[in-house]
Amino acid sequence: METYDPQAIEAKWQRVWEDARAFYVANPEPGEQPKGKFYMLEMLPYPSGNLHMGHVLNYTLGDVLTHFHRRQGEHVLRPMGWDSFGLPAENAAIREGGHPREITERNIETIEHQMRRLGWAIDWDRVIAAHDPAYYHWTQWLFLRFFERDLAYRKEAPVNWCPNDQTVLANEQVIDGHCERCGAEVEARKMEQWFFRITSYADALLHDHAQIDWPERTKTIQRNWIGRSEGAELLCRIDELDVDVPVFTTRADTVFGATFFVLAPEHPLVDEIAERSPNGDEIREYVKHSAAKRGEERAAAEEKTGVFTGLYAANPATDEPIPVWVADYVLMEYGTGAIMGVPAHDERDRAFAERFDLAITQVVDEEQGVLVNSGEFTGMPVQDGLRAIVEWLGERGRGRPAVSFRLRDWGFSRQRYWGSPIPVVYCESCGIVPVPDDELPVLLPEVEDYRPKGKPPLASNEEWLHVPCPRCGGEGTREADTMDTFVDSSWYFLRYCDPDNDELPFARWLADFWAPVDQYIGGIDHATGHLLYSRFFVKVMNEMEMVGFREPFQRLFHQGWVRQGGTKMSKSRGNVTAPDQLAEMYGADAVRLYILFVGPADQDMDWTEEGIEGVGRFLRRLWRIVHEAAAADGGGGSGDGGPLARKAHETIAKVSDDIGRRFVFNTPIAAVMELVNELGRDPSAPGARFAAETAVSLIQPYAPHIAEELWESALGHSRLWERPWPLADEAQLRRETFELVIQVNGRVRDRVEASTEESEDELVARAKASERVQAQLDGKEIRQAIVVPGKLVNLVV
Ligand SMILES: [Zn+2]
Ligand SMILES: [Zn+2]
Repeated sequence: METYDPQAIEAKWQRVWEDARAFYVANPEPGEQPKGKFYMLEMLPYPSGNLHMGHVLNYTLGDVLTHFHRRQGEHVLRPMGWDSFGLPAENAAIREGGHPREITERNIETIEHQMRRLGWAIDWDRVIAAHDPAYYHWTQWLFLRFFERDLAYRKEAPVNWCPNDQTVLANEQVIDGHCERCGAEVEARKMEQWFFRITSYADALLHDHAQIDWPERTKTIQRNWIGRSEGAELLCRIDELDVDVPVFTTRADTVFGATFFVLAPEHPLVDEIAERSPNGDEIREYVKHSAAKRGEERAAAEEKTGVFTGLYAANPATDEPIPVWVADYVLMEYGTGAIMGVPAHDERDRAFAERFDLAITQVVDEEQGVLVNSGEFTGMPVQDGLRAIVEWLGERGRGRPAVSFRLRDWGFSRQRYWGSPIPVVYCESCGIVPVPDDELPVLLPEVEDYRPKGKPPLASNEEWLHVPCPRCGGEGTREADTMDTFVDSSWYFLRYCDPDNDELPFARWLADFWAPVDQYIGGIDHATGHLLYSRFFVKVMNEMEMVGFREPFQRLFHQGWVRQGGTKMSKSRGNVTAPDQLAEMYGADAVRLYILFVGPADQDMDWTEEGIEGVGRFLRRLWRIVHEAAAADGGGGSGDGGPLARKAHETIAKVSDDIGRRFVFNTPIAAVMELVNELGRDPSAPGARFAAETAVSLIQPYAPHIAEELWESALGHSRLWERPWPLADEAQLRRETFELVIQVNGRVRDRVEASTEESEDELVARAKASERVQAQLDGKEIRQAIVVPGKLVNLVV
């Protein structure tokens, strides 16, 4: 027996797998419909430096599932690619000082090397990169399809501006008022931006949750983000302007108590009101002032501010004139940007009314739960009153039932260099003109200075910027903003199905064959970003008949955080050992095994050096014991019913159930360790060879290199990676006897062999008969006997 040399073994098998193209999967031939496909995907990494242990967890998890499903005989697609456009990659380039393309491509090389060193079973033929023109060609093509359908549009809107990254951020990229990327406090600005009309799909995004097997927690986060609320849209008449202003409310039952009317400073009517109002200057000043404040800060401010416009609106129920105010505790992003103020029944309205001395009229008796001071509805229970009032307002042409969403359209243009150009040209006479399909891709041009300056860097390349209008041939100017890289990642999982297609993003039949992704793995921090955007994209592509499904990711798993020394592992904290260095020290198998052994994969975990050393010891023991068992060859097959063979079958059943059904990845390792321990007691016992083969076969998804080497050189077989996953023999799982634990008052006093056939009464009788128990009882009266069938009897005295 040679000594276990992980570095040599791992290099050898990685070469063998690559030569055999072991983990590359062919597309079916046209018309062929092979059964049993499995699309395994982990969120793609952005190449900003090295892999960290969080990646190792993510991709090792995916690897275990890849091997497990491959060996069930399924066609497993498990590709890899690079989220190589966008802020993280660009910021890394700025940090390292170089052109984003050079830095990004160098980082990709490093990461690919690290991935190969870990021995992950990846189909390297399907690699895609967001910054590759062959990829962003189709991102641009998709943008144009969305544009044609009016699902991509440009408008001036209040946006989140990161003063540090010098770019607009999507709402989903702002966490508690701070930039998700750099942590800078986000400012409010008003700018022309590109948006995707994701709000048109708000209901579908909610409904279709029923179709997918996702953690309930993630669905809840999305549900809250979309924020659907049912209520009514009421019309408030402002005679002086000759307009009916729509207002969304969930509390139409309180309409009789509306004593004032408020417009958000951004409301489109405010300009006109300022023109007419004697307080015009004050209003304009106020609007300017509040524009610099963020929404949440405004809404939460204890001291409410506002300006009276001098105008009056009609209460939609009473027609009474109520004063019109402009106040920034009302946000344009919610509802319609206008509210009726009901100070008796809304906290913020009350604070505002008290500050400005406005009337407060109670219209609900909270104790009785009935309406008061509400005309013909007085005395009605609140819920009935609400329905009746909406209906009555409808008859008067003053309201209708309505639904409002918290979700806003997705702003995706960025004033940065490192992204896909947006393929449109502005023309004085034609407006926004799409670049024709046959002129795609619009290549990202070189610029002298790509660093963020607030203005899009692409605009500095005059030669690139000025082009003839594709429609009229007159003077045109290209769009100089680039796309958010979340656009690239909203469809990448479909490109893997057909990565070399140069006529379309992908052929529909290939997308329909492989996708949706059967198992997706990635961080829960993407719940309201990537995971929402991708669902939106797939719904649109489904309506365009590009794909036959409406959800991208059938099943979703979120891995936990990996901590070292009690803190999250990340580059900025400097507590990172690169995974390939760890592989050089301990072997890739030890790294892979440990990252899944240390705890449940969906929970946060602590990475320690001692832990990985323990796993290393297990691998060396496995190596030695399997060799001993093979050499001794004590005989006895898989079906001999001996204790070792039975233990092996139990282990098969447990590991298969944990990985395949329960989705638990640490306990299978413990189960194999147990089997190896048992085998180690007597490697020449009957059934030892079968137990050794089973241990090697079951550990293969976790530690494929050592498993393959043992399978071949010790056990004399070949190509374990292609071997069918072992099946447990049901007959050997049914145990005829078990060890009955006997307790007195919850403390273990004896263990005896009992038959699975015995009744509860018989088990209790057996417990009472035990000499050790009788010594404990000492003549005391047994008050109760608790029986757990197959396990224990507890006598309570
Ligand atoms: Zn930032
Ligand atoms: Zn034109």
